[in-house]
Amino acid sequence: MKKSALGKTGIQVTPVGCGVLTVGRSQLGLPVGEGAGVVRRALERGINFLDTAQYYRTYPYIREALRGTGFEPVISSKCLGGSYGAMRDAVEEARAGMDRDAIDIFLLHELRHGGDWESRRGAWEYLMEAKAKGLVRAIGISTHHVDVAERAASELEMDVLFPLINREGLGIRRGAGAGGRDEMAAAIKKAGEAGIGVFAMKALGGGNLVGGYIAALDYVRGLPGVVSVMVGLGSIDEADRLAEYAEGRLDVSYRPDISGKRMRVDRGDCEGCGACVGRCPSHAVRLTGGGFAEIDPAKCLNCGYCAPVCPTRAIIFF
Ligand code: SF4
Ligand code: SF4
Repeated sequence: MKKSALGKTGIQVTPVGCGVLTVGRSQLGLPVGEGAGVVRRALERGINFLDTAQYYRTYPYIREALRGTGFEPVISSKCLGGSYGAMRDAVEEARAGMDRDAIDIFLLHELRHGGDWESRRGAWEYLMEAKAKGLVRAIGISTHHVDVAERAASELEMDVLFPLINREGLGIRRGAGAGGRDEMAAAIKKAGEAGIGVFAMKALGGGNLVGGYIAALDYVRGLPGVVSVMVGLGSIDEADRLAEYAEGRLDVSYRPDISGKRMRVDRGDCEGCGACVGRCPSHAVRLTGGGFAEIDPAKCLNCGYCAPVCPTRAIIFF
């Protein structure tokens, strides 16, 4: 599969990547051997780019997928913590958990607003130090926020940007409110022009846009500045079809089989605002004592009404 330069990092990546969140316990919860098989299949089909995170708890899947294969994919991970020590521990956990001397890309996970830059300065300082020591090769941020993506372009140490974008603008934020698709596209273009390597997330809107699979991926891949698009993979078939898509050979009628999957709340993204609770006609959602929304599968009709009102795109269909 063709590879392209990820900004000025010296890293070459394929136009699509394998999101490893899907197989882990936050979503499908596949046994390690089975989930590793999905990741390995993506690699066998030529995809060379993997996305994970400390909170996904999917390092064992990647380690198992790589064991004895000789594959050397580009691995991106990230940490929600803000302190120097939290990031140091996260980088060490990733190196040990995936048995790698260095992690290719490490990010501040889900930067949400201007104050986040300052409150997570310690974590960023550690990332710069880790890069200087060769423990990571490139550093950056992931975000759903337009204002954060705009600022990334002017951050001198920023190597890569991992923003949320999709053709319906689902889940894009600006400050405390909603952000627009086109303004996020403009921020991505600006970052690309600044030499930052951009790879995008949630092109399929957390599963809500799978009915137009090719169009949804084409939209994001066609944006100026986007080098690669991460797609969460939950099965061997999905890995095969994604590779076919990247090679321009996918049947236009393809629609991922999402039968047997259900609406879930990604606790890493949920801000506990309660909007989904009021929107659900089935009274299937409640706020837990921990401040997260929770969907009762016995009451949920998979109607999808709740997903569009979630400001952080925390409600996903898997
Ligand atoms: S998919 Fe429909 S029924 Fe299920 S939690 Fe969301 S709004 Fe409620
Ligand atoms: S709407 Fe989204 S952020 Fe708000 S409580 Fe529901 S899942 Fe959480």
